[in-house]
Amino acid sequence: MTITLSKVVNELLSKVKITHEHAIVFKDIVSIDGFYSESLVRIVTHAHKDHLYGLRDSIRKNPLIAMTKATYDILTALGYRIPKEKTFTLNYNQEFKIGDLTLSLHKAKHIVGAAQVLAVDNDGSRLVYTGDFKLPSTPILDSDLLVIEATYGNPEHVRPFKYEVESLFIDLVKSGLPHGPVYVFGYHGKLQEAMEILRSGGIDAPFIAPRKVYDVTLAAIKHGLNVEGLYYDKTLEAEEIMRSKWYVYFAHINSPKRNYYHRVSSLSIILTGWEFKEPLRRLNNKTYIVALSDHADFEQLLEYVEESKPKVVVTDASREGSAHILAKEIRKRLSIPAIALP
Ligand SMILES: [Zn+2]
Repeated sequence: MTITLSKVVNELLSKVKITHEHAIVFKDIVSIDGFYSESLVRIVTHAHKDHLYGLRDSIRKNPLIAMTKATYDILTALGYRIPKEKTFTLNYNQEFKIGDLTLSLHKAKHIVGAAQVLAVDNDGSRLVYTGDFKLPSTPILDSDLLVIEATYGNPEHVRPFKYEVESLFIDLVKSGLPHGPVYVFGYHGKLQEAMEILRSGGIDAPFIAPRKVYDVTLAAIKHGLNVEGLYYDKTLEAEEIMRSKWYVYFAHINSPKRNYYHRVSSLSIILTGWEFKEPLRRLNNKTYIVALSDHADFEQLLEYVEESKPKVVVTDASREGSAHILAKEIRKRLSIPAIALP
């Protein structure tokens, strides 16, 4: 019995590699989120930097770049130029065949446009890469071989408060606005999610953003993000709003103007997933950290694996996270073979 099982597992494992260049490669045909010279298609699961490694090499050397239309539009807003003849945009659940594989993209709750990848081999085996995701609202795909992200792959990475962060964030912004402008710092994707959360929570102050954040938000709005009342900060309208001091400003967390923004704000909020003890943490009299994450925590990673029912799991150790610990915990807690690659 053990021999048969390990034969199946080994066969599945022979279909996947993860390179040190951060590419998840299925059967040498498709490379996902990293450059691999032999692949016929490069898939971009979403427009975060740590999933765009080697994209310019892929654009030059791989025949096709596949992604959702929303991801394509966000990449364009970020300054990537993919030639028309190589661009292959797909709807969720739309299948395309390449070599032995039938590929499809499936929704991932993460940033607008984010996708999971399903590759069905001609022997029927299902190879899945989750990309980045959180639960709920990410469909859990049945798999034989599951490649899963491992950002919060450590059992300590559990946010017990994960379902109440949004309302605490709304209340914090509400309490700050009467005293002057509120500045929110985060990554692309998370900033847009924050805008939607605040609007749905009844915050009606104007939103202001610098160029790239503004452009990425417009691309996200085009694909379903529900945000109104956003202004580009270099327009006359925005300047007038800023003189009124009643607005929320959204800036990239690594913005070179961050110190300046802190100075002019009456309240600064930093959005990060790396907080596990409390949903809000006060850094000083006007700066707070809010534990808004767009990644599954440890419990949700295990939940995905359990429901996906894979025969073997590969955790992605080529990106930041706890891939080795997660693989060990999957073996221990779920009794499913699991290894970290590379
Ligand atoms: Zn991401």
